[in-house]
Amino acid sequence: MKRPRPVVALYPGSFDPITHGHEDLARRALTVADRLIVAVAHTSTHDKKGLFDIDERIRLIEDVFADEDRIEVKSFEGLLVDFARAQKAPLVVRGLRAVSDFEYELQMAQMNQELWPEIETIFLVPDVRYSFLSASLVRQVAQLGGDVSSFVSGPVLKGLKRKLRKR
Ligand code: ADP
Repeated sequence: MKRPRPVVALYPGSFDPITHGHEDLARRALTVADRLIVAVAHTSTHDKKGLFDIDERIRLIEDVFADEDRIEVKSFEGLLVDFARAQKAPLVVRGLRAVSDFEYELQMAQMNQELWPEIETIFLVPDVRYSFLSASLVRQVAQLGGDVSSFVSGPVLKGLKRKLRKR
């Protein structure tokens, strides 16, 4: 009997840096997929100024998920659909925190469908504790000297301190 193929999902984003919200979403994704590729985008349409470079972001995500061998971290440039096709991973996971996420996410999912009809986007909802959390807010609070220890994991906290000390 032919065994069903493992489901590989793709979780794209800028992850600058990875927060507890992203972590929550990735772990939830593993309840519907066998493996997850966290895909760090080289370019982001709505967040031009990055704090961590791509390699640093990847390393932080790998540290955060060191206990989870079903999660792999990669980076990609260009269109998500091209990367998804190359990875043979037509299942994309995105998070919906609030109604404000919905319009952009819907537009993007439909555009991706136009570009590659085989792609499917599923939306997952984080634990309510993380529904206000965004990487950009974490960056802002940290840059202004605020305590972000309840929003990010240890390696990210260390990375933020190191990065901001240098500035
Ligand atoms: P951010 O919006 O935090 O800068 P990204 O651009 O890296 O993050 O987002 C990648 C995906 O992760 C998006 O689908 C976004 O909605 C989702 N996401 C980000 N933060 C959270 C969170 N706190 N809870 C659920 N999903 C989230």
